[in-house]
Amino acid sequence: MANKYELPPLPYAYDALEPHIDEQTMRLHHDKHHLSYVNGLNAALDKLAAAREAGDFALVKHWSREAAFHGSGHFLHSIFWPNMAPAGSGPGEPSGDLAAQIAKDFGSFNAFKAQFGAAAGAVEGSGWALLVWEPNAGQLEVLTAEKHQNLTQWGVVPLLVLDVWEHAYYLKYQNNRGAYVTAWWNVVNWADVAERFAAARG
Ligand code: MN
Repeated sequence: MANKYELPPLPYAYDALEPHIDEQTMRLHHDKHHLSYVNGLNAALDKLAAAREAGDFALVKHWSREAAFHGSGHFLHSIFWPNMAPAGSGPGEPSGDLAAQIAKDFGSFNAFKAQFGAAAGAVEGSGWALLVWEPNAGQLEVLTAEKHQNLTQWGVVPLLVLDVWEHAYYLKYQNNRGAYVTAWWNVVNWADVAERFAAARG
């Protein structure tokens, strides 16, 4: 069966972020909302395991969506809690390599804060603002996420990807995406996938 995820405890007391974030909000947010993501992720992975066992993928889209929604919620909140600490308990701004990278990529700490704040304010509906490391160019970026899932889970490392946009197969396979997918298995570079897997596991 799938791995069982657990709700990580808060790294501080529920009232530790007062008065900036109130105790009642923290109790509800962590104990109810985050827990429901953990439970939902475990349930979705169990359902997908049962589907594999039964060879019945009729509900694969539904359970994949559930895994993406609850997994993204679980992984992002697991970063969110330790991203915070009681006011005054640590340095008020970054230093060292992080400070240097922020200065390099955003111009200054204040410019970064202005962009991050504007991005957070501009998220439509529910979502997140994120400071991310973009490893291809080796730079920091500010991104936003509406909702938080859209069929992915933050924190995962892609190992094998398949383009199913119509431009990837329509000339040869027209509307028969299934035939394209079946054929595609013949050209997968498993050595590359294995390298990425080894790198991801560290
Ligand atoms: Mn939340």
